[in-house]
Amino acid sequence: MVTAIRPEPKAKLGPTQLLINNQWVESVSGKRFETINPATGEVICDVAEADAADVDRAVQAARQAFIRGEWAQLSPTHRGELLYKLADLIEANKEELARLETLDNGKPLNDSLNADLSLVIACYRYYAGWADKVQGKTIPINGPYFCYTRHEPVGVVGQIIPWNFPLLMQAWKLAPALAMGNTVVMKTAEQTPLSALRVGELILEAGFPPGVVNLLSGYGPTAGQAIARHHDIDKVAFTGSTEVGHLIMEAAAQTNLKRVTLELGGKSPNIVFADANFDQAIEGAHFSLFFNQGQCCCAGSRLFVEEKCYDEFVAKSVERARSRRVGDPFESNTEQGPQVDQEQFNKVMSYIESGQLEGAQMLCGGSRLGDRGYFIEPTVFADVSDGMKIAQEEIFGPVMSIIKFKDLDEVIERANNTMYGLAAGVWTQDITKVHAIANGVRAGTVWVNCYDVFDAAAPFGGFKQSGIGRELGEYGLQQYTETKTVTIKL
Ligand code: NAP
Ligand code: MG
Repeated sequence: MVTAIRPEPKAKLGPTQLLINNQWVESVSGKRFETINPATGEVICDVAEADAADVDRAVQAARQAFIRGEWAQLSPTHRGELLYKLADLIEANKEELARLETLDNGKPLNDSLNADLSLVIACYRYYAGWADKVQGKTIPINGPYFCYTRHEPVGVVGQIIPWNFPLLMQAWKLAPALAMGNTVVMKTAEQTPLSALRVGELILEAGFPPGVVNLLSGYGPTAGQAIARHHDIDKVAFTGSTEVGHLIMEAAAQTNLKRVTLELGGKSPNIVFADANFDQAIEGAHFSLFFNQGQCCCAGSRLFVEEKCYDEFVAKSVERARSRRVGDPFESNTEQGPQVDQEQFNKVMSYIESGQLEGAQMLCGGSRLGDRGYFIEPTVFADVSDGMKIAQEEIFGPVMSIIKFKDLDEVIERANNTMYGLAAGVWTQDITKVHAIANGVRAGTVWVNCYDVFDAAAPFGGFKQSGIGRELGEYGLQQYTETKTVTIKL
């Protein structure tokens, strides 16, 4: 099963083939592609490359599993038990999975272990608990009828996930879909196929029936598109860029009107008032932007700071960014690893250049770090204005943009002046401002005096072009449920 061409001592590699119908198989074309260690730029190993023909095979397996009914009609309690078992197996292999995640993605091992893996395990357990608690209603309608609703699975679900939180995005998608009795064809991101495949092994170990979970490594324009365009997929769930989100909807519209949920990009305002607890706000703003190498869809990437405390805030933010420890992601005190690949590295560097050209003040960072891998210095821009590219577009890197504001109404209007609406943060001790921001900002999540607080029970998703639908919590289940109305004449 292990076909590593360069054994990497820092993490044990798992399977590298496609998982279809509970079998590890090569792709129809026989093609494979390489995955890179972003800390060194070296090849870790190659993995089987899925294309349209493999998507077809996987969809057939998922359809058969759905029709056979051994999953959807399995007692909901038993579906829950299998999800609990998977969570236990992931927990038992937590350390190994975290190392694999760090190797393939570049995020610090500390984060892989304490942020990603903890949330992954909690997510599977949370939805395991829901499996036998989803129920319809009896509805008193007019006339001699008995009317009730059934909550049924949508069917075969295609899921396309990104590289920034590979295991966590896999969990957010698989857990609610499986709890509701759907069967799944999942494409992982080309940059980070390895950890999801190792979870595939654990799925087999847990005893999920054949065809319920199918895992494909491959590229977006080929395997991803084939999922979005497939006539026998009932729903597609996607996380990634807004640009590709448009393509997914188009593909669904042009084929079978499959249900579409999208979790897309953001340019989230993080608003600091002068009355905030200053030290907490500095650290919170730093974390909201730099966490995960800045590769978060909800990053607080438009940092609005009230005029009265602006200069001091900028100075302290620069000091904090300068002290950020960037380096080997396997070192225990590392706060920031490399960007995920050369393409993302180039994209971030081009935004840094654009910020300088447009006249923002670069107060620290701005350069590549070291001579191998994709490391970028924590970078802070001040005097950023709303119209600049770095204030409008998703950078997805360690680049902070600080923007000055005067008062509450003005900052709400400016915060909303974007096509995105994923998240927002506010730092203040004034309850009136808290409510004004929480109600006034058009975003799917608002964090008050905190940031990036995630919980499997709390829904997450975007307003406007940041997405459609919600993941996590009870709301997340609705996206994997069809409601059937049954009316019986009495
Ligand atoms: P992306 O292209 O949107 O990738 C996300 C997923 O969609 C990957 O699995 C990708 O496949 C797949 N995909 C790409 N083109 C597709 C298509 N035509 N049809 C179906 N699936 C397709 O994102 P990216 O290129 O990795 O990153 C670009 C930017 O997207 C980032 O800089 C960031 O701004 C944003 N982004 C947002 C999130 C988020 O959490 N919301 C996550 C990642 C990136 P591949 O494996 O071939 O890429
Ligand atoms: Mg990689």
